[in-house]
Amino acid sequence: MQNKSFSSKGYVFPGVWQKYTDAYADSLRMPEEYFGEIAKQALYWKKPWDKYFEYDPPIHRFFIGGLTNYSYLLDLYEKSWRKDKVAFYWEDELGNTRALSYHDLFREVNRFAQVLKNLDVKKGDRVGIYMPMVPEAIVAILATHRIGALHVIVFSGFGAEGLASRLDDSKSKLLITADGTFRRGKFLELKKIADSALEKATSVEKVIVFKRWKEEKANMRKARDFWWHELMAEVPNNVYVEPEWLEANDPIYIMYTSGTAGKPKGIVDTSSKLVWLYANMLWAFDLNKENRKRETWFFTGDIGWAGGMWFTVYTTPLFGLSSVFYEGAPDYPKPDKFWELVEKYKATVFYTSPTVFRLSMTYGDEWVKRHDLSSLRVIGSVGEPLNAEVWNWVFEVIGNRKVPVIDTYGQTETMLTILPPYFIDKIPLKPGSATLQVPGIEAAVLNEYGQPAKTDEKGLLVYRMPFKVPSIFLTVWGDVERFGEKNWSGDNEFVNSVYYDAFRGYFYTSDVAMEDKDGYFWLLGRADDTLKIAGHRIGTAEIENAFLFHSAVGAAMVVGKPDVLRGELAVSFIVLKQGNNPSIELAEELRRTVRKVLGAFVVIEKVYFVKRIPTNRSGKVMRRIGRALVGGMPLGDTSTLDDPTTIHELQNAIKDSGY
Ligand code: ATP
Ligand code: MG
Repeated sequence: MQNKSFSSKGYVFPGVWQKYTDAYADSLRMPEEYFGEIAKQALYWKKPWDKYFEYDPPIHRFFIGGLTNYSYLLDLYEKSWRKDKVAFYWEDELGNTRALSYHDLFREVNRFAQVLKNLDVKKGDRVGIYMPMVPEAIVAILATHRIGALHVIVFSGFGAEGLASRLDDSKSKLLITADGTFRRGKFLELKKIADSALEKATSVEKVIVFKRWKEEKANMRKARDFWWHELMAEVPNNVYVEPEWLEANDPIYIMYTSGTAGKPKGIVDTSSKLVWLYANMLWAFDLNKENRKRETWFFTGDIGWAGGMWFTVYTTPLFGLSSVFYEGAPDYPKPDKFWELVEKYKATVFYTSPTVFRLSMTYGDEWVKRHDLSSLRVIGSVGEPLNAEVWNWVFEVIGNRKVPVIDTYGQTETMLTILPPYFIDKIPLKPGSATLQVPGIEAAVLNEYGQPAKTDEKGLLVYRMPFKVPSIFLTVWGDVERFGEKNWSGDNEFVNSVYYDAFRGYFYTSDVAMEDKDGYFWLLGRADDTLKIAGHRIGTAEIENAFLFHSAVGAAMVVGKPDVLRGELAVSFIVLKQGNNPSIELAEELRRTVRKVLGAFVVIEKVYFVKRIPTNRSGKVMRRIGRALVGGMPLGDTSTLDDPTTIHELQNAIKDSGY
């Protein structure tokens, strides 16, 4: 069970995958039958679709002519036993709580939809949502959708620049925000940041402000700014707003990518993508009818990135679950905040990112062990490769060797595509692998010449085009108008071409992967992070994983540094677990560990011990920052960096010349 390397073929939770193989074959042979059935389960269709699929390169359309509105699910729950079920358990860092039942959600969404209509927001308008993790953010998102407007969620940790550029790019006409939010015990004044963003984002005409704490923090501007509670007080409690019936391919939101590689892209999705969301969550978390009645769901991601929006705000009503919705930092006031929440709300699903696991590892097992986590049925991970060592730790310490730990791979553009399809088959898990491609997806690994890579050979992950399933996004915001000209081929004029022009006939993910003999996919990091040492290509995730074999290492970031002789050398930034101290001996031990796991060619030029490694707002390691610093290159766009002071930390470590 202890798998010690990436290419390990060891299984955990032995199972079968015959049903999966059949389902996969069916999905490609008859996608309309397969996904039509799922679409009917997922959403209410006011009018059935006329045609399943149309491909008008590079635009994919699904369920053409079908009319739906996701928020109508709330109407259905209002008429069912779920009416009184808790939809969201909210809690903040200080332990203040609120609970929102499905009835409350139905009422609040209708009332706020009326508020938006009163402010003349219409179908197709863009509404910026710069909100803390409070229930009103959920209400704002669903109400915006109900009236057919597009929500543009901007992470509340962004500064004025990040907010302004997203509001401006999307030409949002309304902004919904709050006076502020609490994070690590401090009050972050969002409205102040919004005010300064609005000097640049001139498309915004009106602002709705939710009062999180104090009125005087909001600096309300007459005629432009409105209090949430005052607008809500004007609409009757029982107001009903008929959902705007949307064609399945009408845009419903713009979600900006995490900006790990560079400038974030505004991904535009449609209602048909919510069918894909339903399928994703159903498969991965085995949300059968019985499970979904009982499930208390806890996805920890912020609504400001695709994961939080999909896996909390949309998934919860999609399956009628109860969800934990937490405002604050994972390790505040103490490192066990998340475990406290799992125990208190008896969460059955805990779904998070590898950063959260790595953070917990560095704090030490005791913080987890002091809580009863026996309610957990499944633990999920998304956002970055889940190294085998971290997997083992999660399996042992959090799951107590009883709970499957599943890795789910995806992108803002295509949602999840590789995951253990637990609903279909209890397939065996291999630590370090996100397992199998899901029905309807035709993933492949290509070498740099565009030829299929061999079994266990590293290459670039792509999907065959056209997609037969609504996994694929509609477009990148801003490209859509230009499609009229039908001149998308080859000239790099469109942002979309990043995806479509790299390999003809394929969608390019920009990620490195390999496929093993059982068809399991191993995600090895981003193509732009890959190192080439003495002719060998090696993913950063592989080297970082090797570091983690050493018991003193809590987290590792590896980047390449140009070298005349070998092409590139690996430079490492290491966070030690509590109780370990930097030393030249330890650095040597770590080098030995890496050589033992990966081979002597992996020369670690430097070991820099640091307290934190740079991550972006969605918790992803931003290796390009490290790469720029060690290579003496410009830093590029740093607006998505979670904590800009990590830059100084790395700079100082480099200045001290490391080990
Ligand atoms: P940008 O596209 O702006 O550079 P980003 O790619 O980080 O940012 P997201 O769409 O949030 O934005 O993240 C998708 C990426 O995250 C994937 O392309 C992949 O690199 C990584 N990723 C997500 N889940 C996994 C996973 N389970 N295993 C490995 N990598 C993952
Ligand atoms: Mg990306």
